Amino acid sequence: MIIVLDAGQAEVDLAAGVLGCPRCGGRLRPWSRAAARPVRRLDGSSWRVRPRRARCQACRSTQLLLPAGCLPRRGDTAEVVGAALLAKASGVRVQAHRTIAAELGRPPTTVRRWLRAVRGPHTDWLRAQGIDQAHRLDPAVLADLPAQPSALGDALTALGAAVRARRPRLHSRTPAWTLITMLTRGRLLARRRQADRHGPFPGPVCPEPGVTVPTNSASPCTRRRHRADGTRQIATHTSSSPVTPSSSS
Ligand SMILES: [Zn+2]
Repeated sequence: MIIVLDAGQAEVDLAAGVLGCPRCGGRLRPWSRAAARPVRRLDGSSWRVRPRRARCQACRSTQLLLPAGCLPRRGDTAEVVGAALLAKASGVRVQAHRTIAAELGRPPTTVRRWLRAVRGPHTDWLRAQGIDQAHRLDPAVLADLPAQPSALGDALTALGAAVRARRPRLHSRTPAWTLITMLTRGRLLARRRQADRHGPFPGPVCPEPGVTVPTNSASPCTRRRHRADGTRQIATHTSSSPVTPSSSS
């Protein structure tokens, strides 16, 4: 799977044969489309998505080009899921998934699956992505990053910092959660087996602005590296005001 920020540009790149296969580096070419499916936006409207498929001329594998803002195998946009994560990080505790589901108009079981998919090592991984990429693009955005009362809050704050660092390079008002989908290679939520296993998994390489991010060619990202890159620095800040992806948009 490949996350694409600009579907039109991805079509141009596919036709020109400049899009590389994430498995072998071979040239990808257009190859039909996936079945259309509705994806629910935060305002309740439906976004009909029919992702492009591409096929590698070398290894013959097929790749799905998923628009950034969608999440793999989820029926809601990253903005909807992100709103649930922000609500959870803001301190909703008792029956959190039911409270948040009522606010978003989504089934409690669906919201519970989202919240369970950002526990443990995956939360650390999300935060590491934010810290790593913000540091690489504009270390200044990390200078006043406030510590949050939860690991999830810290992760969302770090991703918000990465969005602020990346936006000037895009020269656009790309929605924050769309950028976060790119930055996390569609892994805002852990895959179900990963969430169950609670183990670390490969993290992404930060994409350059504008085009595509393959989701399965990654470098290792461990808890140890994450701590070396930022935990201690952030823990020294005491401000309680959250810095979230939505507040940075
Ligand atoms: Zn290939």
